Amino acid sequence: MTSEDLFSPKDSALRKAACLALSLLEDGGFEAYFVGGFIRDTLLNRPINDADLTTNAPYESMVRLFENAGYTVHRTGEKHGTVTVVVEGFPLEITRYRADGAYEDHRHPTQVTFVSTLEEDLARRDFTINAMAYNPRIGALVDYHNGANDLRRGIIRCVGDPRQRFQEDALRILRALRFASQLNFTLEPETGLAIHESVELLCSVSAERLYSEFTKLLCGQNPFPILMEYSDVVFQLIPELKESWKFDQMTPYHKYDVYEHIAHTVENVPATPLCRWIALMHDAGKPAHFTRDEKGVGHFKRHAITSELLARQVAERFKMPRDFTEDLLLIVRRHDDVVEETPRAVKRMLFKLGGRPDLFEVLCDMKRADTLSQADRCLPRLEMVEHLRAIAADVLKEDEAFSLKQLDLSGEDLIALGLKPGPQFSQLLNAALEAVIDEACPNEKEALISYLGLKQ
Ligand code: ATP
Ligand code: MG
Repeated sequence: MTSEDLFSPKDSALRKAACLALSLLEDGGFEAYFVGGFIRDTLLNRPINDADLTTNAPYESMVRLFENAGYTVHRTGEKHGTVTVVVEGFPLEITRYRADGAYEDHRHPTQVTFVSTLEEDLARRDFTINAMAYNPRIGALVDYHNGANDLRRGIIRCVGDPRQRFQEDALRILRALRFASQLNFTLEPETGLAIHESVELLCSVSAERLYSEFTKLLCGQNPFPILMEYSDVVFQLIPELKESWKFDQMTPYHKYDVYEHIAHTVENVPATPLCRWIALMHDAGKPAHFTRDEKGVGHFKRHAITSELLARQVAERFKMPRDFTEDLLLIVRRHDDVVEETPRAVKRMLFKLGGRPDLFEVLCDMKRADTLSQADRCLPRLEMVEHLRAIAADVLKEDEAFSLKQLDLSGEDLIALGLKPGPQFSQLLNAALEAVIDEACPNEKEALISYLGLKQ
């Protein structure tokens, strides 16, 4: 591999900044290499998100070198030999060659030994595809673990003994699966086997680390086979889904059992954390609501209520951000609501979604994916979903009211009418909005006041 192969036409501002940092270290008399995702994604021709560098420079020398050159330096991980240097606006992580002992619950290993060779540093890295290094001046890929070969063949393989590597840091289990999902790779059989054998170790990893890696897994291009083949990992993190496994729906509207339907739905929604988490949790409540009618056909009436409850439990356990959690629960609760193909029904749903057109889009994405993951006879419903989107677009274009802030009547107007602020304010305003949505009253202050029976 030559420097041309790695650094020419796709050169980017981030790559240039990383090259600058690398030159500075070398000019200071040290070794320096690009490593990790930077090399992996470059070889795969994928966009680069961040740049990781590794060097034999001692910590203080690194800090001095960059400070003297006028760059901002953050001592982000002194104990672990990591500095973050801001070059041309890009924060670059530079880590001194090190070997790791066991990991604690958080991002970093408990014991760190600084080592003198790149070879030792690469041996501590998780997967062969992440254990390659490259220096554009030397121009050759350093690849002691045949990472380039695994990259070509689409294989995730631990560096060294997979059982031991998962013992050291169980988060690697999820990292293996998330790279497989993101890159559409498969697990090398020993690595895959070791994952199944090590699942319980995941309980020692912090909620924040699990949430971050699992969300990346969900948002990969290929989560379906991973969710199916490594359902034991999924259930370790989310026991709320266990009941869905092989749960026969016994209805002509579904060709998959509940869990397989969920996994298909995940793959069929857009790859955003919100959509993917909604899809994962939307039917978790189904097993608890299963009934069969006199013909033996299965039903799951009001299952969304239990799905929401289970999703709340999961959100709390993973300490998901508050706004994210609220949006997740709202759409899980509403995912199965019937929305008629009329402006009135669409506006009613917009109102229930807090007046948020973005959430209405998410609801439509969810309904579309849900349909695609049911029996083929349901496919005509796809047209209905697109019709709902078109109706919503019209409602927005015409600026029709579906939220309290669009209503031509406010709390202040009620005060001006001599009413005392209290819970009845929101009842009155909601009743006025419903009347406007139902076209029982125009969205005009005076009309609304008389509709509510309030004197001027
Ligand atoms: P991305 O940046 O796309 O998430 P990445 O591979 O760069 O992918 P980082 O978390 O940035 O992932 O880590 C950088 C490198 O550090 C990895 O490529 C790998 O070599 C090493 N690494 C990260 N986490 C671990 C870990 N838990 N165990 C061993 N090595 C790790
Ligand atoms: Mg990275």
